This record gives sequence, C-alpha cells and structure tokens, in this order.
Amino acid sequence: MKVRCKLCWEEFDESEVKLHHIIPKCIGGTDKDKRAYLCKKCHAIWHYNLPKLLWEFVPDELKPNAIKAIRAKFLYISRQNARKKGMLDEWEKFFLD
Ligand SMILES: [Zn+2]
Repeated sequence: MKVRCKLCWEEFDESEVKLHHIIPKCIGGTDKDKRAYLCKKCHAIWHYNLPKLLWEFVPDELKPNAIKAIRAKFLYISRQNARKKGMLDEWEKFFLD
C-alpha cells in the first residue's frame, strides 16, 4: 500500500513512512497532539529543526507559545507542499477536523 507523507505529500511504500508526533515528545509534545505519517527525509529535517538542546533553553513560561509556533510552522510547510501537488482538499480533511 502507498501512503502519503503529510509534510512533503510524496507517495511512499508503507515501509518507508512512520507515524510521528507533529510535536516531538522530546520537546513537550503529548499523545493529544496529532500524529501524521512522515517519510524518513521529512522526519529527519523536522527533527533537525527542533533540536532538543535548544528547547532546553526556552523558558518554561514560553514553551506553550513555542509549541504553538512550531505546530503552525509544520502546518504552513505541509499546506504549501499539498497545494503544489493539488492536494489541498486532502490537506484540509486531514488537518482541519
Ligand atoms: Zn516527506
């Protein structure tokens, strides 16, 4: 079965994608956060951009806002890629429930 990565919106074999937390647990994501299939490349890029080390320097009182900003960034990139591929309907179905 083919599965679309929810960040680059390319199609991959099931074995090449994994269900990931959009906000990684290591920076305060919880099981309430939406999970989405990501390909290996997108997962690596997304994690590289959210280094745990930097996260530790964000003051606790700013973390909720930082998580909101990170989530918004994910949605922005994902939506841009979905639009390029003519898949905005699917993007909306997945993210705007
Ligand atoms: Zn991808």
